[in-house]
Amino acid sequence: MIRDVALGAAAGFLIYLFAMGYNIVPLLFIVGGAYFIWRVVIERGMVRSPGKGVVVSSTPVTFDDIGGQATAKKELQEGLDFLRHSDRMKELGIRPLKGILLLGPPGTGKTLLAKAAARYTNSAFLAVSGSEFVQMYAGVGAERVRSLFKRAREVARKEKKHSAIIFIDEMDILGGKRGSNISHHEYDQTLNQLLVEMDGLGSDQNPQILVIGATNRAEALDAALLRPGRFDRQVNVDLPDKEGRLAILQIHTKNKPLAEDVDLEQIAHETFGFSGAHLESLTNEAAIFALREKSKVIVQKHLREAVEKVMLGEKLDRRPTADELWRVAVHEGGHALLAETVKPNSVAQISIRSRGHALGFVRHYPDDDLYLYTQEMLEQQIMVALAGAVAEHMILGTRSTGNAGDYEHALSMVERILASGMSTLGIIDLSRLNDGQRQKITREILAELEQKTRVVLEEKKETLLAVAKILQEEETVSGDALREFLHKVA
Ligand code: ATP
Repeated sequence: MIRDVALGAAAGFLIYLFAMGYNIVPLLFIVGGAYFIWRVVIERGMVRSPGKGVVVSSTPVTFDDIGGQATAKKELQEGLDFLRHSDRMKELGIRPLKGILLLGPPGTGKTLLAKAAARYTNSAFLAVSGSEFVQMYAGVGAERVRSLFKRAREVARKEKKHSAIIFIDEMDILGGKRGSNISHHEYDQTLNQLLVEMDGLGSDQNPQILVIGATNRAEALDAALLRPGRFDRQVNVDLPDKEGRLAILQIHTKNKPLAEDVDLEQIAHETFGFSGAHLESLTNEAAIFALREKSKVIVQKHLREAVEKVMLGEKLDRRPTADELWRVAVHEGGHALLAETVKPNSVAQISIRSRGHALGFVRHYPDDDLYLYTQEMLEQQIMVALAGAVAEHMILGTRSTGNAGDYEHALSMVERILASGMSTLGIIDLSRLNDGQRQKITREILAELEQKTRVVLEEKKETLLAVAKILQEEETVSGDALREFLHKVA
């Protein structure tokens, strides 16, 4: 705004001079030249305030504010003890730890861990994202790295602390393998500068600096970064297990009024695969549902709805036609009935309400914290995936495009069967299978399981129709209600 007014005033002044008969051409050259140089200098970052884009945080986060992640916390704390007891380290001649790399999927609490690390070591905390360093102009990234370290020292001195932690998120952007960016060498210069800065960190420096990097693509990092003396401690920050999820839910519901019926353990059980960020969002969504219903407290139903929303997106207003709804009811009924047959008590909820990309869905209780699957388990999953299409075919005589996602899931399970030597081909080198052979074995596995699925559903055709009708009327049916119904008709 001020800039526009100034530009307008300057233009007006020049026009006035011109009207008065002055020769303004040399002036125009001078002003234009000055403006050009100014832009270039700004773009090249030479007059940037050192560390622009850097967040200096004093938000107190402690390790107790981070749910789960017991191993990550322990490993990180071990690393940080180098900083906390730096005098002893010096006496023993141990070189200081310069960098810790946090590896893990998005939203698992890497930033929180870095903040807690700053608190634990009483260090100043500066956070920056790797993408901040990537510019079109050569030298800018390297200059920013230099100013970042300078700024860290300044902040620590100002806060009267003996150490500073620099947290670099999206480390793979700044520290990707050198030579992999063909457009220019800017990335490489930036990374080189980071290496130079880290190599210059010593135990005799005051304040001491520790760099904590975070990435979910460790394989993309330049090997030089992982060399001893740089990021020589790596800490995995994985998705939380059930206990971790419960702890995170407890942390994020501490400030929210919960009804008596709320069972956070149950929600933790249902949210396999959720990150900390997902769980935080879930508790927030549940509170919004409570607000919408003008309820003073959050009840279990709100939390359940929030699980669905975080998993599948907002409910859509678009309503399918009556025919489509019936098809979706049959399809989801097929999935649910088969799931309860091959794996009793596994259905958490069935719904034919459109959400995100799905017209309907069956939510299963996850096989919590299972790392290994037997052939039987994989085959059951394939049968459950195929049951929607088989049910449609059986009741309506045709299949629909709604099955594409299920087929994709089934195919990925077949791949796992093949890769783990559980097919009739036995243990094989998959790369030596040609397309025809791969198709043939995939087809055989799927055809056999489709047939088995059909036999199960044919036997329960009447039940399937009844379940689809209930779904058509009620739109959403809980797993418990489904089981109660199945028990009655059995
Ligand atoms: P990204 O890789 O996307 O930068 P991140 O791993 O750094 O993500 P954070 O920014 O630390 O994740 O987490 C995002 C939010 O998710 C936090 O502000 C917090 O609300 C919540 N959260 C994530 N993990 C946890 C956890 N273990 N305990 C409590 N809250 C968590």
